[in-house]
Amino acid sequence: MGRRVPEGAGDRERAAAEILLAHVLGLERVQLYMRHDQPLVPAELAAFKAVIRRRLRHEPVAYITGRKGFWTLDLKVDPEVLIPRPETELLVEQALAVLKGRPGAGRVLELGVGSGAVVIALAAASEDGRFFGCDISPGALKIARVNAQSAGVAGRVHLWAGDWFDGLAPGSGFDLIVSNPPYVRSADIAALQPEIATYEPRPALDGGPDGLNSYRAILASAHRYLTPGGSLVLEIGCDQREAVARLADASGGYCGFDCRRDYGGLDRVVALRKK
Ligand code: GLN
Repeated sequence: MGRRVPEGAGDRERAAAEILLAHVLGLERVQLYMRHDQPLVPAELAAFKAVIRRRLRHEPVAYITGRKGFWTLDLKVDPEVLIPRPETELLVEQALAVLKGRPGAGRVLELGVGSGAVVIALAAASEDGRFFGCDISPGALKIARVNAQSAGVAGRVHLWAGDWFDGLAPGSGFDLIVSNPPYVRSADIAALQPEIATYEPRPALDGGPDGLNSYRAILASAHRYLTPGGSLVLEIGCDQREAVARLADASGGYCGFDCRRDYGGLDRVVALRKK
């Protein structure tokens, strides 16, 4: 018997191969099926082999193609930004539920936009409202600006380079602050899949020795930048609910702790209101 492949892995790698072949040929993936009997010319074959070699070194498909689908968006990505995860769509859902529940157009701030996936998805799904986002990485900001432009929301999403609340006047008054901050324990990063550990930007993953540095910084200050009744919605690591609840408590600035699980059944998104 041959080597056993874990169930599902074969399908995933087949899908990856199709995405990469379509990328090399400049086609949509579905077009491969319509041309399934068309042989590759030598240059195409060479280009396909080159991307397969990159994939065999564990480079993520999204960095090879430079694209990742998220929510309703087709985003540009490169190694300056974390590849948006499907779980993070739950952060968008929760944030949209908060916005729907409040009267009038809101002011929304995302801390650490990366590719811009979250703040752009929120802007694209909202008819009005003003959207703001910062990231400490100038490289990420460049990508986020391109993505805001191609999603047609660049006029409503204001982006700048900054660390958390730097440069914002307290009392700036946001109705909603969202973030998917770095939350992996520093010592755990090396043991993640090589796709993540070797290729994704460490500053977007590394939450410090206990993984909670971002939450400490955000929870200590966010309430000062929220309007009365404003909400803070955060993605968390699946084992961080209690620690984040304790930090929220200790800051004295919030009430109404609510934690939602993702489709994998893991704690993933926390929502709080300004006290
Ligand atoms: N969810 C990411 C992972 O799979 C971590 C993202 C983050 O730190 N914000 O490792």
